[in-house]
Amino acid sequence: MYPAFIKEARAEGNAKAVETFRNANSVERIHYELYSKALESLTAGKDLAAGSMYVCNDCGHTVMGEAPEECEVRGASRSKFKEGVSCLMTVIEALSFSGIGRPMP
Ligand SMILES: [Zn+2]
Repeated sequence: MYPAFIKEARAEGNAKAVETFRNANSVERIHYELYSKALESLTAGKDLAAGSMYVCNDCGHTVMGEAPEECEVRGASRSKFKEGVSCLMTVIEALSFSGIGRPMP
């Protein structure tokens, strides 16, 4: 989806839109990796270890464990990261995303 948007924005000469779509694409790739790991654990009959997850309020970049000093997507400082959903929520979202299960009410 985003590569097509980037291409179209570039053709229109809209640099701001190109940047926005590139950042969104970067974050979605990271989310895809997190979902894949959660789904892999689940299909192996394991749960993810409980732990913290931080979300960058600037771009949505999501990090398991500790918040980084600087966001790798847009360079926001650590203070922009807020503790987010737990690992369990990641598994639930992965199930919903994959169509295997449904999120809890
Ligand atoms: Zn960020």
